[in-house]
Amino acid sequence: LVSLENVVKRFGSLEVLKGVSLEVDKGEIVAVIGRSGSGKSTMLRCINALEPVQAGRIMVDGIEVTAPGADHNKLRARVGMVFQSYNLFPHLNVERNVKLALKLVRRMSDAEASEVARRMVAKVGLEDKLLAYPDELSGGQQQRVAIARSLAMQPTIMLFDEITSALDPELVGEVLKVLEELAEEGMTMMLVTHEMHFARTVADRVVFMHEGRIHEEGPAEQILREPGTAELRNFLSAVL
Ligand code: ATP
Ligand code: MG
Repeated sequence: LVSLENVVKRFGSLEVLKGVSLEVDKGEIVAVIGRSGSGKSTMLRCINALEPVQAGRIMVDGIEVTAPGADHNKLRARVGMVFQSYNLFPHLNVERNVKLALKLVRRMSDAEASEVARRMVAKVGLEDKLLAYPDELSGGQQQRVAIARSLAMQPTIMLFDEITSALDPELVGEVLKVLEELAEEGMTMMLVTHEMHFARTVADRVVFMHEGRIHEEGPAEQILREPGTAELRNFLSAVL
């Protein structure tokens, strides 16, 4: 469903991705781990065409992201992305936050969009908060709304970039639970995470990035239990 071939990304003279190749199959859950600055966020942003690449090829769901003139709107209709900061519109309640893109991008009628929004908000366990405003919600609840908003667009793949990092520890669980449910439904996901326990239990595969390269990858359980390189061993001993 996603393929990266020798992707090179530079910011000026700084080479952030130094030839990254990766395949993600439909239904697969890939956790991306690695030190700060290793290129994890940049890789996700390139997949969603938020950053242009300098060399290599990225394909997502049959769309060649890196082709000149690639249809980025079509791409983003299929790729959902959720960040550490939830970026909800503060002046819109939960229902209207979720409905907005359905109406503007998907051209749904108000009634149709309401129906979808309610279903998605219920899916993340917030049906009683439909009319609440973002500042009336906890960080974990806001992040669940952001996930609902993304899911409402019916993406074929979801990209999550450290979506629990800004949350108080007691709120992390409720967000991870939503991801677990998505995993059970067979959603294809790539997630940058520092939650090693979560990576081990939910991800099929772990990709370890180091200095702009995929330094090591493999089945989650195996690679976390028996890291093959000193770099991954050091990283794991620092975060576990
Ligand atoms: P973290 O765990 O801290 O989120 P990361 O692995 O996600 O780190 P990236 O955000 O991908 O790392 O950044 C990789 C490198 O690229 C860093 O050195 C960063 O400073 C640099 N970088 C990222 N975005 C830009 C940008 N827009 N302009 C210039 N340099 C950037
Ligand atoms: Mg990052």
